Amino acid sequence: MQTINNINFNQERALIRVDFNVPLDKQFNITDDTRIRAAIPTIQKILNDGGSVVLMSHLGRPLKKLKEDGSIDYEKFSLKHIVNHLSNLLNTPVQFATDCIGEQTLQTAQSLQAGEVLLLENTRFHKAEEKGESEFAEQLSKLGTIFVNDAFGTAHRAHASTTIVANYFDREHKCFGLLMAAELENADKVLKNAEKPLTAILGGAKVSDKILIIENLLNMANNIIIGGGMAYTFFKAQGGQIGSSLVEEDKLELALGILEKAKQKGVQIILPEDSIIADKFDNDAQTQIANNFNIPEEWMGLDIGADAIATFSEVIQKSKTILWNGPMGVFEMERFQNGTKAIALAIVEATKNGAFSLVGGGDSVAAVNKFNLANDVSFVSTGGGAMLEYFEGKTLPGVAALL
Ligand code: AMP
Repeated sequence: MQTINNINFNQERALIRVDFNVPLDKQFNITDDTRIRAAIPTIQKILNDGGSVVLMSHLGRPLKKLKEDGSIDYEKFSLKHIVNHLSNLLNTPVQFATDCIGEQTLQTAQSLQAGEVLLLENTRFHKAEEKGESEFAEQLSKLGTIFVNDAFGTAHRAHASTTIVANYFDREHKCFGLLMAAELENADKVLKNAEKPLTAILGGAKVSDKILIIENLLNMANNIIIGGGMAYTFFKAQGGQIGSSLVEEDKLELALGILEKAKQKGVQIILPEDSIIADKFDNDAQTQIANNFNIPEEWMGLDIGADAIATFSEVIQKSKTILWNGPMGVFEMERFQNGTKAIALAIVEATKNGAFSLVGGGDSVAAVNKFNLANDVSFVSTGGGAMLEYFEGKTLPGVAALL
């Protein structure tokens, strides 16, 4: 893997695909700058080498979320809103190009001096971006002498700025940024060279979102713990009464198929014995504990119960490699966060005792952040969809384009 550490950027102009797709409030203040901070080490290394930097990113979905009159909301989706914050983080002025392509942008890029930084306007203002059009990608490619991809979060998209642009650089002039390299190295600690036992903990709302990841994990994991809303489809499939808990009726056969396949492959699938059940989907609901084969009608499981926590925690403590994707319950509500928190703490404990733990996928990342435990696991992926696809065993186009 060619990373920025293998290259001296002195006198080079790095075209870096970053993921600056950050949330903004109505006044265009950044409400969470994690993604910007994550890209700083890569930018800094290139500037320290004596190079200059051209940054490109998307922000939101400007061509899908049009204004009421059908026009593009250039103000709302402009990357100009992050210029000041980026300048502060880098401790250097950041220039801004109001279009990511065009003669003027090319001239500004070409006249950058060592140590200077240029941020391009949102690549998704052009429909050619998401279509992955070559001509547009070629124009972007002219803005740098070396292409660096540090946007793991969009590596599963074959867009112009994430993938196609790389075709215009030879192997010596394209590489992974530090964030992207760290994501891949850590994911591979689970996927390719896991110390066993390997335990995957899957949760969240839907089995259908996790089928491909389960199928792939059946080839490598020793244990697959299944919690959250998706667990109830497995209980119903086995003849359980699950009340009004979340279920995907059209996935019952599939759930049985997964259990059967796991048996054949010697993988232990561990489902929660009990749940905290509620009489409505509400933090103020009445609650009780129930066995997952016997949830009364009208009641729904919204968190795993104490027995499940104990069983899951024991398996986690004995694991040497742990992957966690998806919460164990409706952790957004105070009353139903306990299971997710307990599992997070079990993972932290196992990590302290030497296990490697990776947390990835939107909601489990939100959960470790909520419980302030992000620094106590081995690695928290910024990947979201890209991370899921990587764990499904898919080749990410943004990664393949750099090889
Ligand atoms: P996902 O995006 O598929 O990982 O699902 C995450 C969502 O699943 C979170 O918003 C949780 O609140 C929700 N969730 C987890 N457990 C349950 C459950 N038992 N019933 C309903 N929703 C759940």
